[in-house]
Amino acid sequence: MTLHTIEPTVIIGAGFTGLFAALHLRHQSYIPEILLIDQRSQFVFKPMLYELLTEELTEGVICPSYAELLKGSNIRFVQGDVTRLNLSEKVVELGTGAVYHYSNLVLGVGCVQGYLGTEGAEEHSFAFRSPEEVIVLQKHLKKCLQESLVTTDASLKQALLTFAIVGAGPSGVEMAATLADVLPRWYALLGGNPKEIKIVLINHATEILAGDANALLQKDALEALNKRTIPVELKLGIGVKSVTKEAVGYQKKDAAIGETIQFLATYTTIWTAGSSLNPLIESLHSQLAADQIGKHGQLLVTHTLQLPNFPEVFAAGDCVEVQGQSQPALAQVAYQQGAAIASNLIALKQGKNLHDSTVTLRGTLMKLGLNNGVANLFDKVQIHGKAADLIRRATYLEMLPTPLHNFKATKEWLKEETFNRYLDGI
Ligand SMILES: Cc1cc2nc3c(=O)[nH]c(=O)nc-3n(C[C@H](O)[C@H](O)[C@H](O)COP(=O)(O)OP(=O)(O)OC[C@H]3O[C@@H](n4cnc5c(N)ncnc54)[C@H](O)[C@@H]3O)c2cc1C
Repeated sequence: MTLHTIEPTVIIGAGFTGLFAALHLRHQSYIPEILLIDQRSQFVFKPMLYELLTEELTEGVICPSYAELLKGSNIRFVQGDVTRLNLSEKVVELGTGAVYHYSNLVLGVGCVQGYLGTEGAEEHSFAFRSPEEVIVLQKHLKKCLQESLVTTDASLKQALLTFAIVGAGPSGVEMAATLADVLPRWYALLGGNPKEIKIVLINHATEILAGDANALLQKDALEALNKRTIPVELKLGIGVKSVTKEAVGYQKKDAAIGETIQFLATYTTIWTAGSSLNPLIESLHSQLAADQIGKHGQLLVTHTLQLPNFPEVFAAGDCVEVQGQSQPALAQVAYQQGAAIASNLIALKQGKNLHDSTVTLRGTLMKLGLNNGVANLFDKVQIHGKAADLIRRATYLEMLPTPLHNFKATKEWLKEETFNRYLDGI
């Protein structure tokens, strides 16, 4: 008698796609072994990293450890960096040399920070995607405020108190609004004069939130940026040319060749403009036909979220483009796609038909300073101020993954009940 071992379902990346796909699978009693691999030991709830920066919430809340989240779930978690994938041989290899075989594979590795080839940006600007980066930035901000109080050099003081944010997409706008409230508060506590602080938001497009899912909130966001403790200064239609430790070099985006580059003296440049392809996805290009690679290098997947020539492989979130569809790079998209992958993996095991994944954008939520936000509900209702901030906080806290026994298999990112509850009270 020949014994056949059944290889596990391997999920690479335990972010919004991968972690929630795994939790949905377990919730629906999926039988095969699930092996979840991530390079980190903690889940990162990126939309709430601002609350970590401002100390409104702790790291334990925003970034729960996988050990805690998966306790008792029967999902096997391996912390490691996947460096190689062989799609034909169905093999996953970690940087440590460990090798895993799979029967089905889920890819949810997201994207990485991109710098648009800007000179010095990677070396000298601050990124904002992980709790470690948030803590580095927080320490730096506090150090700048403290040093500005002891220097007698006026221009050094001004540079220490100038904070530049590059990119006025949602992350840049949220960052600028948050800093414009929290830095004056920290500075006043140190005995400084908050009015000396300068927050500058620099953007290539001439409008903020241009072409984004939050574009409808442009007017509200502009108003909020202007009404912060320190009004945010906007530099729009500007191309950043270089970043050094003490300055940002920039030009008007339609500047004539040879036009002089101007410099903003600052010790803090926070980079939120652009993302890049995950190197693991890039490394798969050589195994894929050209028509299976998306416009920006992502995996081009079918509507059932499978790789066309490798139907045992599913992928979703920021690392894919779905054929004929354009989905924004949002947690709510990755989360819903993770749930769709779980349903399709179960259908596959039961010999049933797979379903096309559909994503419903229920609206958007933005943090626009301390105790201030804007919520766009179903593109129909907009709520502003403290109420919007409360809705955002409550919705996100409800969506935070909890240990498995508490996991509610909701498919909605912004739950109607959450909104209705708040709308009733407004
Ligand atoms: C500051 C910030 C604020 C945001 N705010 C919002 C918001 O308000 N609303 C919203 O909807 N979206 C928001 N987003 C976008 C949202 O976070 C992403 O769209 C979402 O995280 C994408 O999910 P994903 O599963 O594709 O990737 P991720 O959630 O990024 O997960 C990818 C996982 O893969 C792991 N990984 C990567 N490479 C490897 C490898 N080689 N080996 C092992 N593991 C690997 C990573 O460690 C990570 O855990 C924000 C993003 C940022 C950066």
